[in-house]
Amino acid sequence: MNLDTVKCPGCGADITFRKGSRTSKCEYCGSVATLGNALEALEADAELDRRVAEIAEREAEVKRHENASADYRAAMEKWKKKGRIPVILSGVLWFLGGMLLEFDLDGWGVLMILAAFGIFFAAPVVLAASEPDGSRLPGSPAPPPKKFATALKYYGLCLATSAVGLIAAAIISVTLIEK
Ligand SMILES: [Zn+2]
Repeated sequence: MNLDTVKCPGCGADITFRKGSRTSKCEYCGSVATLGNALEALEADAELDRRVAEIAEREAEVKRHENASADYRAAMEKWKKKGRIPVILSGVLWFLGGMLLEFDLDGWGVLMILAAFGIFFAAPVVLAASEPDGSRLPGSPAPPPKKFATALKYYGLCLATSAVGLIAAAIISVTLIEK
């Protein structure tokens, strides 16, 4: 769109301005177009361009948001899988430690229990430190990780499986002694 031609306000045909004139008559319907009409049309075009750019920007933002959410979910999934290892190991080591002590293999039993303690104290801290931070991804709606709550949660889980492992070992020991 330029100022030499303008859409006819009556029928929409192109009207060409002669040089040096402010108005021009439509050769089809006789409507008169002014340079003001041409300016309005230009402004409408610019406004349309602004809106198109705005919509494109919003779409890009939604896309970034979706990508960040997907990345965050994938990272969380991987991290949670890593978190199962110390929880399961705690139970297994306490069970094995209890059984080994029961069979008078004290050295091995103590070693298992020491390993279980090591995991209990280290794993929740390591897991809390490595929790994915979704809030750092551009456009992500995810909140930052609550590291203290995460560590506490894994202390609780490791404690629970440790108790289960130890109780299982104790029950088996008592059963063996009774026989
Ligand atoms: Zn016309």
